Amino acid sequence: MKKDIIVVGGGCIGLMTAYCLVKSGRTVTVIDKNDITDGTSFGNAGLLSAFKKAPLSAPGAIPDTIKLMLKGESPASVHPTLDFHLLKWLLKFAASSNQARLKRTLALFERYGQISLDMYESMVKEDGMDFHFCKDGLLMIYTEQKTFDAKAAHCDNTDAYEILSKERTKEYMPILNDKVIGSILLKENGHVDPGEFMLELKKFLEEKGVEFLLNEEVTRLEFSGSKIKKVHTSKDSYEAETFVLSTGADDTLARQAKNRFMMTPAKGYSITFKMEDSLKPKTSSLFADLFIAMTPRRNTVRMTSKLELGTTNPEVVRKQIDSIHKNLAMYSNDFVKEDMVEWTGFRPLTPNDIPIIGYDENYNNLVHATGLGWLGITFAPAIGKVINDVITIDKKNETNTDILLFSAFFQG
Ligand SMILES: Cc1cc2nc3c(=O)[nH]c(=O)nc-3n(C[C@H](O)[C@H](O)[C@H](O)COP(=O)(O)OP(=O)(O)OC[C@H]3O[C@@H](n4cnc5c(N)ncnc54)[C@H](O)[C@@H]3O)c2cc1C
Repeated sequence: MKKDIIVVGGGCIGLMTAYCLVKSGRTVTVIDKNDITDGTSFGNAGLLSAFKKAPLSAPGAIPDTIKLMLKGESPASVHPTLDFHLLKWLLKFAASSNQARLKRTLALFERYGQISLDMYESMVKEDGMDFHFCKDGLLMIYTEQKTFDAKAAHCDNTDAYEILSKERTKEYMPILNDKVIGSILLKENGHVDPGEFMLELKKFLEEKGVEFLLNEEVTRLEFSGSKIKKVHTSKDSYEAETFVLSTGADDTLARQAKNRFMMTPAKGYSITFKMEDSLKPKTSSLFADLFIAMTPRRNTVRMTSKLELGTTNPEVVRKQIDSIHKNLAMYSNDFVKEDMVEWTGFRPLTPNDIPIIGYDENYNNLVHATGLGWLGITFAPAIGKVINDVITIDKKNETNTDILLFSAFFQG
């Protein structure tokens, strides 16, 4: 029987899309090649960090990264490659790192960040989900005087910022040593436990009748004129009215529909461990000059870092894990990390932090929902809402204000 909506890819974007569609009364099937318990949407830091935080493609990003590379502390690296697409991506990234785009991107981040925060709050209060949602700010920790001073100079709004001395910073992050300069609390941000969020959401969706076809890979899209007729999977084939592709950094299916999006997999790592309660960070924190995040969770702490381009190797690479520990150790006292779990995953990264959302330009029953890069958890609820609106209300990109504002189809 023909299905209503098939969502291919059950990461945070696919599940939030299913959530919004099911609330609009649509019937949804989610197909995922894995069992959705270990992907990028699970192992990330869980920061909800849309407010007052520069995008990756901020002015100065490239010289700053090169400086860190020379010091051996850079979280970012590009593997040597002749991949023409990645070279084009890098050029686009460089071109996007300018003041005019920064201003616009910050405004868009706040708009969609607020929609997401409100939706997270309502999922907790109205739907009864529990995923360790905390709205207690993001502590930006500085290890370089120059970057601290530069950021502090712009912190004029006390509702949004609090500048903390070295000693106050240590109250928030007791492991720090004296090399740390200070910190700025970005008060409007928050965090969740991404794994708990995914599992709670899946449970909720199952209760609402969403069908999950797991461990089933979609291998081929079948076309009929200007429509997708079916998806063929490793087990079967399925027809539907509308197909949503939310396959994260894997663009294999989008390419079958003749798309070559400006998106690249950006590999990152997390290390999750138990530590003494009194030493745990009091809120989610980001070492701004090192790009190491630390998020307190119910029973553990999670550290995330690294942004590797030009690799699709799914293995945890020891050198990268060691480098995260080494970079943190420069600014912290020794502390014990117990029961460490190491993980790696790929961000679906666009060169200007603008996602790829909306109807396909060739197939009129195909909708894309990817390209959320390092902010997928931050924006997942808002993206789910936009995808739901474009499918159920507008039925095309051109009349949806959010797609016009926040999609690479219009802001590429
Ligand atoms: C180290 C690290 C830290 C991060 N920290 C944060 C953070 O603090 N805050 C934040 O907002 N974001 C963070 N992110 C980014 C965030 O995790 C991603 O943006 C988000 O998870 C992307 O979600 P997605 O649903 O687009 O993709 P995914 O989570 O990758 O989901 C895509 C799904 O599609 C499935 N799939 C792919 N191809 C097929 C196919 N052919 N057939 C069937 N299924 C398929 C995959 O199995 C997968 O389950 C971080 C990422 C990393 C790597």
